[in-house]
Amino acid sequence: MTYVITDVSILGRPPTDILIRDGVVAEVGTGLDRGGAEVLDGTGLVALPGLVDLHTHLREPGREDAETVLTGSRAAALGGYTAVCAMANTSPVADTAGVVEQVYRLGREAGLVDVQPIGAVTVGLAGGSLAELGTMATSAARVRIFSDDGHCVADPRLMRRALEYVRAFDGVIAQHAEEPRLTAGAQMHEGEVSARLGLGGWPAVAEEAVIARDALLAEHVGARLHVCHVSTAGSVEIIRWAKARGIRITAEVTPHHLLLTDETVAGSGDPARAYDPVFKVNPPLRTAADAAALRAALVDGVIDVVATDHAPHAVEDKECEWEYARPGMLGLQTALSVVVAQCLGDGGLDWDGIAERMSRAPARIAGLAEHGHDPAPGVPATLTLVDPAARWRVDPGELASKARNTPYAGMELPARVVATFLRGVPTVLDGKAVGAHAPTTTGDGGVGG
Ligand SMILES: [Zn+2]
Repeated sequence: MTYVITDVSILGRPPTDILIRDGVVAEVGTGLDRGGAEVLDGTGLVALPGLVDLHTHLREPGREDAETVLTGSRAAALGGYTAVCAMANTSPVADTAGVVEQVYRLGREAGLVDVQPIGAVTVGLAGGSLAELGTMATSAARVRIFSDDGHCVADPRLMRRALEYVRAFDGVIAQHAEEPRLTAGAQMHEGEVSARLGLGGWPAVAEEAVIARDALLAEHVGARLHVCHVSTAGSVEIIRWAKARGIRITAEVTPHHLLLTDETVAGSGDPARAYDPVFKVNPPLRTAADAAALRAALVDGVIDVVATDHAPHAVEDKECEWEYARPGMLGLQTALSVVVAQCLGDGGLDWDGIAERMSRAPARIAGLAEHGHDPAPGVPATLTLVDPAARWRVDPGELASKARNTPYAGMELPARVVATFLRGVPTVLDGKAVGAHAPTTTGDGGVGG
């Protein structure tokens, strides 16, 4: 199938046409020979390289009641993603070649985004002994990122060995930085709000101490470290220091840590929603000052990447008392809109900056060579079209995820994904999922097409 997208702005530049043929961008320019191509009107739309998520929980195998590779892939495509890295905390854990190959195969079968499995660092995420990193790396899934996410690789000797091991094939350890002995019994960010609410605190230092330690370990062994979901102003300063020192460190921030704070837990946005477990997440929502520092760090590049930490949960795991609720939030279908709301514009990011942090940089870190390319002749036609002028209201019932635990329910957000292409094949058109699998609407439709 051949497509031409007309009058579209690539990364905010003056409008042009994009011709897609045989899976690649064939031509960019005006007055192209359309020769029987399907025409999509791109007037008012921005074209970005397909988004890449370094941190997605797809829950399959094991918790298919919360999400599957297929439903998570559909949510990803609707959010503008063309590749997602699937975290290893499934059941069974993705700590062998067999499990990562299973997830990889399920992703290919769904065919909506490239699902790149992340391998566990330790057997069963138990923190006791190294998993089979080498066999996962040489498996058909070609694993390059390893993480015990959900758990911290707390033992410094094991962390050192993992860093040394992956250095051989330019792999990276993605650390969930949380010193467990400082967060026992934690329910939310430790501070003035947790004291007022009488909930156990998760102190910033439990994150910052692990990041500092791991940065020094990465320097010592000359390996790559990636820091998952950075959540505090202090962490930003440590990462800034480590980068200035030449340490091979990259970092991600989630949309929810850019926007929401511990005051949200106390009901600042809506008193009726105080203690709503939908706001329970790990690491916890921090202070307004932390969120401001994270936004600034994303803009100035100390934080390289926006990653969703998309964490679907079954109803019974989330709609219960705060204390018993599982931590985590949906993120794939709202990430771009939250980043646009928080960071696009004067003093913030332009579209090129958003493309860097949501596509190019994560593609580089994950080693996904087919992703993260600006639309230009010869590159894979793996891109997303966004309507920056659209506004939409988040309706949990209309999300493609199996789960409903979005913290943005009822919120009006800017920017909608209108279309997504994976190697020249549309996975989303008119804001709706397309393809062999049951289409799902994103809501009130989009523009174009
Ligand atoms: Zn985590």
